[in-house]
Amino acid sequence: MLKILTAPHPLLRQKAQPVEHITDDIRLILDKMIDLMYQTDGIGLAANQVGILKRMVVIDIGADCPYKDLYPLKMINPSLEAISDNTIIYEEGCLSVPGEREKVKRSEMVSVSYTTPEGELKKIEVSGLLAVCIQHEIDHLNGVLFVDRLSKLKQELTWKHYEKQHKKTKGAPL
Ligand SMILES: [Zn+2]
Repeated sequence: MLKILTAPHPLLRQKAQPVEHITDDIRLILDKMIDLMYQTDGIGLAANQVGILKRMVVIDIGADCPYKDLYPLKMINPSLEAISDNTIIYEEGCLSVPGEREKVKRSEMVSVSYTTPEGELKKIEVSGLLAVCIQHEIDHLNGVLFVDRLSKLKQELTWKHYEKQHKKTKGAPL
């Protein structure tokens, strides 16, 4: 059973390693990540978040977009090939930082390459929420959380608020 790790779990701060061989185990993990993402109403999940330091993410933003036929996206070794100078501000949340949402500025468009579970190399250009989500998930693979993208002051306030919420639920039945 996979479980979502929450901050300040140290694995969320580590860099995931490239997947060298796509095995049945890798495909099984991706499927389990998708199940977990749907169960938790997330739109994306990176392997670090379930304690697996491999460069894999799953995404399904649900909205109508040109890549809907690829959903749920299963990306192995995703890599940003190009990012736009144009930016977009979107209020982000994260399954690993439950309860916190903040506006984050990211590139509006990205070109990303990745390998599918079938071993096919793909490159797609996306914009809007899907581009935001891909950048958020690739950040996870590099040990970066969305809170790190905020101003120093906002970071402090967000973590303070998070700790307070966290303490409140400490000792509560899980
Ligand atoms: Zn996240």
